[in-house]
Amino acid sequence: MYKNILYPVDLEHTAEAEKALKIAIDEARRSKAKLVVMTVATGFGMPIVASFFDDSTVKNALKEVARHLKQFVDENIPDDIETNAIVVEGNPAELILKQARKNDIDLIVIASHNNQIENLLLGSCAAKVVRHAQCIVTVVK
Ligand code: ADP
Repeated sequence: MYKNILYPVDLEHTAEAEKALKIAIDEARRSKAKLVVMTVATGFGMPIVASFFDDSTVKNALKEVARHLKQFVDENIPDDIETNAIVVEGNPAELILKQARKNDIDLIVIASHNNQIENLLLGSCAAKVVRHAQCIVTVVK
């Protein structure tokens, strides 16, 4: 049984993560756990690029991402599941791991879209999370 489940979602690739979403929902319901749904906005990651945007532009962009995430939650997560939606900005794998520590997450459910071994060796988001997480990680292919 789990208390806090983390489901990270890339809002641009939700279809590939549908199976993972179903597993996260089933597990949250079975465990009566809280489901943390998080997305990481990656657009401002490079410092040279980020310097072209003032604070209010970044803030507005993050608000828009939060609106999309809320819509995703409303459309996909049943009402009987206690859900917390979170948007952060930066590197997905790092921030997923950070959020897991912050929210006392005991299960991360993550999709892996890429089954090519060279991508695993290069370190995809799912591979990094599996390697460094301190809790149980379910990878859904
Ligand atoms: P792979 O790990 O197969 O190479 P990705 O790294 O693109 O594929 O993504 C795998 C999973 O990692 C996604 O389904 C999602 O759970 C998580 N993920 C990737 N990018 C983000 C993001 N920007 N925000 C939240 N989660 C993400």
